Parts: sequence; C-alpha cells; structure tokens
Amino acid sequence: MREKLLEAVVREMQMGVVVLDMNKRILYSNPFFEKTFSLNGDLLHGMLTDDITDISLLEAIDKAISSGERQSQEITIEGKVRRIVEVRLVPVPLSGLGTPKGGFKDKQSRFQIQNPKSAIRNSMKVLIGFFQDVTEEKRVEAIKRDFVSNVSHELRTPLASIKGYTETLLDGAIDDKSTLKKFLTIIDRHANRMTTLIDDLLTLSMVESHQMQLKLEVIDIKGLISSVLQGFEKGARDKGLRLIMDIGENLSEVTADRGRLEQVIINLVDNAIKYTNNGEVRIAARREDNTIRVDIEDTGIGIPEKEIPRIFERFYRVDKGRSRELGGTGLGLAIVKHIIQAHRGQISVKSIFRKGTIFSFSLPLSHSP
Ligand code: ADP
Repeated sequence: MREKLLEAVVREMQMGVVVLDMNKRILYSNPFFEKTFSLNGDLLHGMLTDDITDISLLEAIDKAISSGERQSQEITIEGKVRRIVEVRLVPVPLSGLGTPKGGFKDKQSRFQIQNPKSAIRNSMKVLIGFFQDVTEEKRVEAIKRDFVSNVSHELRTPLASIKGYTETLLDGAIDDKSTLKKFLTIIDRHANRMTTLIDDLLTLSMVESHQMQLKLEVIDIKGLISSVLQGFEKGARDKGLRLIMDIGENLSEVTADRGRLEQVIINLVDNAIKYTNNGEVRIAARREDNTIRVDIEDTGIGIPEKEIPRIFERFYRVDKGRSRELGGTGLGLAIVKHIIQAHRGQISVKSIFRKGTIFSFSLPLSHSP
C-alpha cells in the first residue's frame, strides 16, 4: 500500500525522476522525465546513454557514480521549444531505502535493512536523477533583468545630459545670459523626460500588477473621443495634419473605466500624430455585434512588418532616437494593451511601412468585473 502510494506520488510529480543502477541502466523513470526528453516506449532496463546525448549530463552522471557525491547541473534541451532543466543527481545506497520490519531500534540501525538479503543489498547503490524544468523562471528572470537595465539606461541618458550642461554652466558658461537660458531650457526638457518616464513606469507597474481596480461606469464614447480630440487639435494643425472623427450611427454607450479608456485613446492618437508627417489621422468608432470597435488610423511612417509582433513590448521602439526626440518612453503601447485586456477587450495593429498604421481595439458593451 505504502509503496503504491509512493509510486503514485512520483508518477504524478511535475518533475522528472529517473533511477539508474551503477551501470547507468534505467530502473525507474516517471512520465515527466520521459516528457522532458521526449522519450517514449519502454525505458525500463534500457541504458540511459541510448536515450540521452547531452555530454555535460553524461559527465555529471559518471562523476556522481565514481565519486558517490551529489552533482547539480543545468542543461539545455533543444527541440521545438528550447527548455532549460536543472538536474540534481543523488547517489543513494539501497540499504538506506528500506524500513526494517520490527521498526527502528536505535539511531544506528536506521540505515540497515534487517533481513537475510541485506548483505547483498547493502553494497548496492542507485543514482536518482531529478529534472526540474526552469524555462519559465529563467524567462521571467531575463525579463526582469532586461527591465532593470532598460530603466537604468533610460534614466541615465537624461541624467548625463543634465550633469553635462550643469557642469558647463558651473565652469563659467553661467555668466553668458543667452547660454544660461539655452542650457536651462535643455535641462528642463530632460527633467521633464524623466518625470514622464517615471509616471509611465508607475502606471505600467499598476496596470501590470493584476491589482488594477477598474472604476466601471457607463460612458458615452462619442463624447469621450471628441473631448480627447479637442486636446490634440492644435498639435495636429501645427503639423498640417487633418484630424477626422468618424462615429457610426448605431454607436451605443459602453461600460468602462473612463480615466483608463481616455488614457488608451490619448496614447494611440498621440502616437498617430507623432509618427505622421503629412496627411490625416482618423478616429472611427462603431458597434460590432456586442462590442464597440475603435480604429485610430494614420497616414504616417508605418511600422516595418517584422517589428509589428514586438510593438506592445515595454521599451520596444522601432526607431529609438526618433521616439526619444519626440518625447516617447516606449511604454505607451504596453500600458494600452494592459488596460484593454483588463476590460476584456482586444487590441490589434495593421500597418504598411511608409504608408500608415491602424490600431484597433474593441470593448465588450456590457462588462461584469
Ligand atoms: P513611444 O513612447 O516610443 O511612442 P509606444 O509604446 O507608444 O512608445 O510605441 C512603441 C513604438 O511603436 C514607437 O516607438 C514607434 O516606433 C511605434 N509606433 C507606435 N505607434 C505608431 C504609429 N501610429 N505609427 C508608426 N509607428 C508607431
């Protein structure tokens, strides 16, 4: 009964387990081990070396067998998806695995099997291998590392400029009034850039942590879009762009968080104007089945096809220099995507390089949080 129970536990574990004898013959393997190495068929009594070719793993197994010491190793398994697996190899004397029938008499007897066959079994050892798939943890670690290095880099650039201009002023340039004014204006711009970046980081961290509480209310989407567009009229006019609003007849109200939805529309219209040099920016809204669909379409620089899949990643920018020059942080679309997803909506993008881009999102009409 106890053995069956243990076997069931090992069989169901989400960690690969293999037991080898000292000749690397397989005495036991659980399904997760077989899945990890994409093995099928009867492995029992087969040689592990027939199935596994990873040199570093085979070396670690040899070392564990010859030294009798535990070994740890990280291996990469190439396949359809590349997997990273942490391996622990533990040599175990078989005599340690049994419990004597009459129970343990004292501490010393604990490691001795008290039956007639114990003499043979005492001298035997097995090697137990544990294989833990850590691909996901490694991926998350890499994302965190990238994020910290991106944030540091983004902050370092304006800080270095502020320091450079301040030092030049302190070195004497301060006495020239026109230089002073010019440099202070630049310092002010960089300080503003850092403030925007920190604001975007705080927003992103809030929308990414699933704690974002949506304050749902019934919203007249036409009114919301037209009030957002008013704020962009001057910017569009200064660039010679036409700003067009095209709202469907049958548009109904939508249940959403007003502030967040406004932020989505502002980000998308701001981008459309930023990345368009001539022509128009059109915002269309219409009802489609049980959703409201909003398209923000521009005749701008477009996005090269191969960049499109990465466009919603944090800090991803097609042209870093251009985005920075225009005051971008590379976080806007990541924020937009999270807000739309929090509303159980969908967002997509279509773009033709050098012709224009359409960002479209749809939101369910009624929404229960
Ligand atoms: P940014 O602050 O750089 O604008 P976003 O996250 O809002 O950051 O956008 C990421 C990148 O996507 C931009 O740097 C730009 O390369 C590209 N992009 C976004 N919207 C458009 C658009 N309407 N037309 C062309 N490229 C765009």
